[in-house]
Amino acid sequence: MLRHPNNSASKKCGVFLKINIPDNVKMILDRLGAGGYSAYCVGGCVRDALLGKTPEDWDITTSALPAEIKDVFSDFKTVDTGIKHGTVAVIVDHVPYEVTTFRVDGSYSDNRHPDTVSFSGDVEDDLSRRDFTVNAMAYNEDGLVDCLGGAEDISRRIIRCVGDADRRFTEDALRIMRALRFSSVLGFEIEPGTRASLTAKKDLLKNIAMERITSELLKLITGEKFRDIFMEYHDVIFTAVPELGELYSHLPDSVLQTNLAAASLLPPDPVKRMAALTSFSGGSDDPPERAEVCKTVLRSMRLSNKFVLAACCLAGHRAVELNNDTDVKYCLGKLGYDAFFDLIELQRADAETRNDREKLLRLISAEELARQMRSDGACVRQSDLKVSGDFLAREFGLQGPQIGACLDELLRAVVEGKVQNTPSELAKFAEKITKTL
Ligand code: ATP
Ligand code: MG
Repeated sequence: MLRHPNNSASKKCGVFLKINIPDNVKMILDRLGAGGYSAYCVGGCVRDALLGKTPEDWDITTSALPAEIKDVFSDFKTVDTGIKHGTVAVIVDHVPYEVTTFRVDGSYSDNRHPDTVSFSGDVEDDLSRRDFTVNAMAYNEDGLVDCLGGAEDISRRIIRCVGDADRRFTEDALRIMRALRFSSVLGFEIEPGTRASLTAKKDLLKNIAMERITSELLKLITGEKFRDIFMEYHDVIFTAVPELGELYSHLPDSVLQTNLAAASLLPPDPVKRMAALTSFSGGSDDPPERAEVCKTVLRSMRLSNKFVLAACCLAGHRAVELNNDTDVKYCLGKLGYDAFFDLIELQRADAETRNDREKLLRLISAEELARQMRSDGACVRQSDLKVSGDFLAREFGLQGPQIGACLDELLRAVVEGKVQNTPSELAKFAEKITKTL
């Protein structure tokens, strides 16, 4: 079925505007155009291109129905990623491009998913179902379709709901987290009406799957305005992630402020920043206790084991002393080099936040020592020893826990400089100590 091309591109933003579309995307638009359909790049890619950033992925919206999209690309591999909602991924040079039919969403009864969707021949319908004006622009070689004022909001650096904010957040409460996320990442202000509405509607976040909330929150905490946004909207964030709220519930705001300050001094890495937000720099609880608190929050956020382990290791050791060579070597033995350097980063962020010059200097020397040890190939963990557990079992008939105990003793002797880390010296020393095991 052919549709007449849509002429809403007349509502352009008034300036001559040229977005550089990658060749593969252009090919997709051209093919759809040649098939008699209208087709545009849409959403995040248009927003990012207008901001002068290189878009990470290019989504395409078209008047072609899903079956028609597959027809137009019958000589390409296509995947029905969301065919019910009109999305077909066209694979070009191993990269999937999501091509979605212009769509209008029906009513929403679960605060997240439309009960029904219907397809449309009009790009403006499709733009009107999108979340924020800055995400609701379409572009092709004929120009920009900007019927909702997205380009102006980009130039004024504003996040504003498309349409009535109360209604849009009630339809899909994940948009509340998305508003905070875009404000943090783009460094934009949230328009007052949108702001009032997202605060009023925050309880609807309880109906949203935690995985979706977590995915937005991790993007939020790596954004340029993350510290301000998190502080200003912490009530909203704590409603979305109740275990995190629980952690701060009996503490003064200054504790959250201090943690946000420390987290913002860390690189924009979700593991590091979540570790900083789920533990505290002061206090005297021991590493396992701290790690446990962090684990409770991160598990409730449904994060992967790998993420939880890495963050808990940092959180757990946040307050360990790294005052002298022995402290450093001991800690390196427990964490290994990579996690140790991450820990130094976290402790430096804490020291800077407290303006503790002395501590900063000690951490700088701890880091230098660890770097020197690493470049010398210094042995810090059992796995760095030049003898293995198998060797000890074979040579000295050690079994089970004896092997671990012997490796421990060998490591201590090497770290303290009593024995050289060579197979022959270690074997000699092992022979001596096996008699005492
Ligand atoms: P990113 O750079 O993070 O990918 P994005 O704008 O591309 O940002 P996506 O989550 O990939 O964000 O969504 C693509 C587009 O789909 C958005 O730009 C927006 O137009 C629309 N969209 C996504 N989620 C929603 C939603 N919950 N409600 C309405 N529109 C949405
Ligand atoms: Mg995207």
